[in-house]
Amino acid sequence: MSIQTVGVVGAGTMGNGIAQACAVRGIDVVMVDIQDAAVQRGLATIGASLDRLIKKDKMTAAEKDAALARVTGTTDYGALKPAQLVIEAATESEPLKLKILAQLDELLDSATIIATNTSSISITKLAAATKRADRFIGMHFFNPVPMMALVEIIRGLQTSDATHESVKVLAERLGKSPITVKNAPGFVVNRILVPMINEAFFVLAEGLASAQDIDAGMKLGCNHPIGPLALADMIGLDVCLAVMNVYFEEYADSKYRPCPLLKEMVAAGWLGRKSGRGVYTY
Ligand code: NAD
Repeated sequence: MSIQTVGVVGAGTMGNGIAQACAVRGIDVVMVDIQDAAVQRGLATIGASLDRLIKKDKMTAAEKDAALARVTGTTDYGALKPAQLVIEAATESEPLKLKILAQLDELLDSATIIATNTSSISITKLAAATKRADRFIGMHFFNPVPMMALVEIIRGLQTSDATHESVKVLAERLGKSPITVKNAPGFVVNRILVPMINEAFFVLAEGLASAQDIDAGMKLGCNHPIGPLALADMIGLDVCLAVMNVYFEEYADSKYRPCPLLKEMVAAGWLGRKSGRGVYTY
C-alpha cells in the first residue's frame, strides 16, 4: 500500500519526532494527543528542531514552512481517518495502548495499517487485541527520531508480508535504515544493550575496575561513543532495572538476573542524570 498520510498518536518525545521525520520527507502527518497542551508542545518542539537545522544550513526557511504546513496537530481522533498508516506513540502502558488500539480499530478504514512504537509490550499480544492482526506491526524508532537512522520493524506472529513491505518502504522514505525483527522481549538492540549495561554493574560491584575505567575500556576498546555506566545514567537506572526484570521474567533464564548493585542504587533513588546522581554525580 502506498502511504501518503501518516497518523501519529501521542505528541510527546517520540510522537513529535516521528511527525517531524515524516513531514520533512513530504508526507502529510496528523498528530493526535489527548491534551491540547501536549499537541502545542509537540508542534513547538518540531519548529525548534527545524530551526536548528536551518542554523546548521541543513534546511531553508521555506523548507521549514513547507514541512510545518504538512503537520496537523489536534486532540480530535477523527482527524486520523485519512491516514493509510497510524503509528501509536503514546505513553508506555499496556492498558492505555489497548484502549487506544480499540479506538483506532473502530475508527479507521479496515485497510489502514496500525503500527506501535512500544519499547516493551508484545507486538503479537497487541495485534491479537485488534480486528486487523495481519495489518498490525511494531515500528520501534530511536530517540531522537530525526537524528537516529535505525527503525526496528517488529513482525508479530500474525503480521502479513504486505504490511511488513509497506512499512519497510515507508521507513526508507523517511531516510531510515530499518531492520526486521521477530517479536520477542527487547527486540534486538535493547536485548543486547541492556544486559551489557547490567554486566557493567556486575563488573563494578566485583571491584574489577573503577566506573571511569569500565567506561573508558568500552569506549576505547569497542569504539562505543559512551561507556555503559554513563549510558545507564542517561537512560535511567530504574528503566534499566525494569527492562532486566522483564527479560528475567519473560525468558525465565538466570542470565538476565538484574545486578544487586543496580537494584540497590535504584532503591536509594540514585536513578542517574534525572535524579542528579547515579553511577556518577551531576
Ligand atoms: P512521552 O511521555 O514523551 O509522550 C507520550 C504522549 O502520549 C504524551 O504527550 C501523552 O499526553 C500522550 N498520550 C497519553 N495518552 C494518550 C491517548 N489516549 N491518546 C493520545 N495521546 C496520549 O513518551 P515517549 O517517550 O514519547 O514514548 C512514547 C512511546 O514510545 C512509548 O511506547 C515508549 O516506550 C516508546 N519509545 C520511547 C523511546 C524514548 O527514548 N523516549 C524510545 C523508543 C520507544
